[in-house]
Order: sequence, then C-alpha cells, then structure tokens
Amino acid sequence: MSDIIRLLPDSVANQIAAGEVIQRPASVVKELVENALDAGATEIMIHVKDAGRTLIQITDNGCGMSPTDARMAFERHATSKITSANDLFNIRTMGFRGEALASIAAIADVELRTKKVEDEVGTFIHITGSEVITQEPVACSNGTSFQIKNLFYNVPARRKFLKGNTTELKHIISEIQRIAIPYPEIKISLFHNNAPVYELPKANHRKRIVDLFGKAINQSLVRVDEETSLVKVFGFVGQPRFARKTMGEQFFFVNGRFIRHGYFHKAVMQAYQQLLPADAFPAYFLFLETNPANIDINVHPTKTEIKFENEGDIWPIIHATVRESLGKNSVVPSIDFDQSGSIDIPLPPKSFSEIQFPEIRINPDYNPFDNEKPTTLGNYGKTSAERKNLGRWEDLYLGTQLKLKPEPDYEPSSVVDDLLFAGPPEQFSGKKTLQLKQKYILTPVKSGLMVIDQKRAHERILFEKFMEVLKSDSVASQQQLFPQTLELNPADSAILQNIIPELLSLGFDIRDFGKNTFIISGTPGVLDVTDAAVIVERLLEEYKTSPVDARAKAKEQIARSLSKASALDYGTELKQEEIIHLIDELFACVTPNFSPDGKRVLHIIPVTDIEKSFSK
Ligand code: ADP
Ligand code: MG
Repeated sequence: MSDIIRLLPDSVANQIAAGEVIQRPASVVKELVENALDAGATEIMIHVKDAGRTLIQITDNGCGMSPTDARMAFERHATSKITSANDLFNIRTMGFRGEALASIAAIADVELRTKKVEDEVGTFIHITGSEVITQEPVACSNGTSFQIKNLFYNVPARRKFLKGNTTELKHIISEIQRIAIPYPEIKISLFHNNAPVYELPKANHRKRIVDLFGKAINQSLVRVDEETSLVKVFGFVGQPRFARKTMGEQFFFVNGRFIRHGYFHKAVMQAYQQLLPADAFPAYFLFLETNPANIDINVHPTKTEIKFENEGDIWPIIHATVRESLGKNSVVPSIDFDQSGSIDIPLPPKSFSEIQFPEIRINPDYNPFDNEKPTTLGNYGKTSAERKNLGRWEDLYLGTQLKLKPEPDYEPSSVVDDLLFAGPPEQFSGKKTLQLKQKYILTPVKSGLMVIDQKRAHERILFEKFMEVLKSDSVASQQQLFPQTLELNPADSAILQNIIPELLSLGFDIRDFGKNTFIISGTPGVLDVTDAAVIVERLLEEYKTSPVDARAKAKEQIARSLSKASALDYGTELKQEEIIHLIDELFACVTPNFSPDGKRVLHIIPVTDIEKSFSK
C-alpha cells in the first residue's frame, strides 16, 4: 500500500489557519490596526464599505516596510516581533504570531502600499488567495496602507455565516474602541461608506473615553489609581447612579491590550456590591500594567483571554482600589442634590435682613477627605465621608427651613465646611417625620417627600457599624446576665465553628462546648440584644442562604447577615426621637441609599409628581 500522508499546500494551510484568526471583517480591522500600532504609527485611518464585506482600508504613518519585508510579511509565521521562544515571555507588541497577514491574504484580495522614510520609492504588492499577482515599486507616502477587498471570496461558508451589516459594523466599532481607549495619544478615524463614525484626535484617557462614548459619561467617571510592586491599576469606574440595565462599557486592558477576565470582572462588581441593585451594570475602564513575564497572552488564538500568574494577589488589589475610589465619591441619591455640584443656600426671609450672617471664606484647597478636624457640633468621631453625607442630609432640608446659624465660636472656613457642620443633633428635631404602617418613615425634603424603609435603613446602619468594628478589631462586648446555651445540628454547628473568630471580634462572647453545643455569654455592645441565641440562629440562617465566595468576604458576609438578623422588624412602632435618630444615623452612613444586600432604602416622591396628580 502506498503512503497516504501528504503536506498540505501553503495556501490551504493558510486558509485553515485563517479560520481561527479571521472570523469576520472586524478581525481584519483588529489585526491591521494592531500592526499599525506595532509599527509606531501616530495616526491611523480606517475606511470600511458594507461593514467590511467589500472594502477594508487601513492607512498608517508608521515605520513602513522594505520591499523584501513587504513580501515576507505575508508568509506564515513571518514576524519581526519575536525571534526566539524566550521572547514569548516578554511581549510588548500587539502581534507576535506572524499569522495575520498570511491568513488575510489566503481569503481575500489584498493590496499593500508601503514605504520606509529613508527609502526613495515604496512597494506595491497585490495578493489573492495566497498568490502574489504583482510586486512593483510605487510612489506612495511614508507608512503603510492595506486594502482588503472581497473578504471570504473563496470561503463561502464563512461568508454565509456573517451577520447583517449593522451587527458586523458593531463588531468593527467595538474592536476600534478596544484599541482607541488604551491608546488615546494616537489619532484614529473610522469611516463607514465614507461617512465618519469616529474622528478621534490625540487626547488623554478621559477625553478619549468621552470622545468615544459621549459627553454624558464624563461626570460619571471616578478616577482609580493604585500602584503596587505587582501591578499598577488605573483608569476610571462609573458612579453607581449612572449604571445601566444593560451590560455596557466594561473594559479591562493589560499592558495596553484589551482582555476579558471573568475573575477580575468579579472583583470590580463586588466593589459595587452594596451600591447597586443586582441587575444594574456599572461602566469601567481599567488599565492594568504588569511585567509581561507575569502574564501568558498565548492561551487563546484571538487573544482576549490572558492568564495571570498572580491572579489571586491581583484580585484584592483591584477590588480594594475600586471600592476606595467609589467610597471617596459616595453615593447619596443624586436626584436630590443639585446636579451641578453647587449648593443653593436659601435667602433669609425679609424680617431677618438685619441679621449679619457670618462671612463665608472659600478655601480652594479644602479637601473634606483628609481633614479630620474635630468639631464641637456633635459630629466628632465620624469619618469625613460620614460628615459629608450629614452635610448633604442637611442640604436636603435647605428648602424647607431657615438655615441654622452656626454656633458663635465656630467660624466656617468654606461653604463645604459650613454645610458639613451645619448644626448640632438636637436641631434635627425640627424635622417633620411620620411613620406609616409601622414600616415606612415619611419626611419632607427639598425636592419632595422622602420615604424610607425602616428595616432596610436599620440594616444599613448596623452593617456599617459592624464593618467598622470588624476592621478595627476593637471588641466592645456586653456581658449577658444569663449565658445562653445553643444546641445545633451538626451542619450548622460546623458553620458556626468556622465563623467564631469573626464573631468574637464583633463582640460576641461565644464558646464551643463540644457535642454541637455553644455557650453565648456576651454580645456586641452596638446591638440591643434581648435574646442572643435567636440572633445567632438567624445569623446562621442568613449565612447559609447567601453563599460566601471568598474567604476575604467572610467578614462582610457576617456583618451583612448579622445586620439583617438584628435589624428592627417591620411592625415596630417608633417614637419620634427614634425616627429622628434612625434618619440621622442613616445619613451618617457612607452608603445610605442601599441596604447591605443592595436593596433600595429610600425613595423620593418628587413634588412635581405630586403636583401632576392634582393637575385635573
Ligand atoms: P505579527 O503582527 O504577529 O508579527 P502579522 O502577520 O500581523 O504578524 O505581520 C507580519 C509582519 O509584517 C509584522 O511582524 C511586521 O514586521 C510587518 N507589518 C505588518 N503590518 C505592518 C505595518 N502596518 N507597518 C509596518 N510593518 C508591518
Ligand atoms: Mg499582527
């Protein structure tokens, strides 16, 4: 029997390889734009016709190619970017496989014009189905221009598989975005059927994002910036209130390369956890920079998935830095505060015209976050973020009552200060409140009627207290008069054993007595506990129903479960002072508007809605 194994001709091998690299017009755009970047271009122009089916033309002002290189570039595994296997661990270019041009030339009609600065004339090459039709000198400008026509002309299956023009154009646009965002210093334009889609001038990151996604995104972007020995994380995250119901602008880049990374995505999403309803998607644009030796870009042919050597160490860095940035720009319901950021202080009524209000001096350097100065006005001991919310809380009332006069010994140093320390707690008692159905608290605010869910509000307050305690590890335990015994089934007992250390640091005095029995002899000082055993049982119940996905999350989980287990129930009648106290404490929270599990704590019925309902 004769031998039957043969080597495939190059053209066929290239066509097969092309199937992996080039799936649709957008893949061609991606490969060619990346090549232009690698060639050091500062300007890239892309023209497509019929979503790339008939023409993709990409022109750059990069380094260009010599006649020999121009011809070589179309060979499979021809690359100028790596020379040995070792280089694979130090990749700083977008391409390195030397497959793209060979693949494209196998399945389309390709024309290349290219010239190096130092050369007199350039090179023209025409290739179709891997076959060189023409190579000749040509007069052209410095840089490189590719024209790809009739994509997939010889792969009918592929051509049929293409979606409608709208979809294919969308793919092209998102490839352009993924390159334009990390390279704002490069001028990029995209035209479809001669109409401009993007004309992006050289810019910085923020400006580039705004140029791509519209002006409205600008005010939502919060800066992220963190550098550790392992990784640098910077970029922007969207404020929760701008989050949308559809998966929107979420981008990770590693060393300038767009990646998908489910695990890191989770780190970001968890940073939003109590700030967003579960079905909302925040925007983020995060750039990671790390030593190329720490990543393996090689795992996927289309290269959007990258493996990191230290994923487990990078996760908490991303999580913490995003969370911190969001915290700094917290997060009180925006509808009720002047969108422009200015604060409207009402004019005093006429009869007060003779009263001299203290002069307000504005200190432009004032930063409410790093100035922890104590005050005599009752906010002492709160963090600056808490004071900030208190200030905003006061602001809510600005339209409904006269501005309170500061104490004589207190001279406000800025408008912000003035609002932050707007008044001692007893002055809150001027607020009108009402409890509805032993479930909701109603109170008038500047823009309408605020409705607060009392249980969720209390959960939020307790949650932040517990988190504070857990962070500081300062135990404030209150001994029970009569220690209680708790007998559990083996499964619950195992869970409880696991979380005892955290419970101890929360102020529980709880000991394992063996045989699934526990003794509780102290409870957290912050809790008003009558039946400690019931609280612990409810805690276990909560703990079981919301799974913990990382050990780092255990504390938060416990704080969440505990706050839910011990918050005051619906049906609890509240006295006026208790209501005021609850409201004050709620607005001293960093995140007053969502409960620890992301549910809405308060809602404002706008005056305009009320007016509308009386319009007939
Ligand atoms: P890779 O990018 O993986 O090296 P490609 O097939 O995309 O492989 O390109 C092959 C080679 O052709 C590149 O290594 C580069 O030397 C050259 N090349 C491709 N596009 C350009 C360009 N726009 N300007 C200059 N050189 C280019
Ligand atoms: Mg390439």
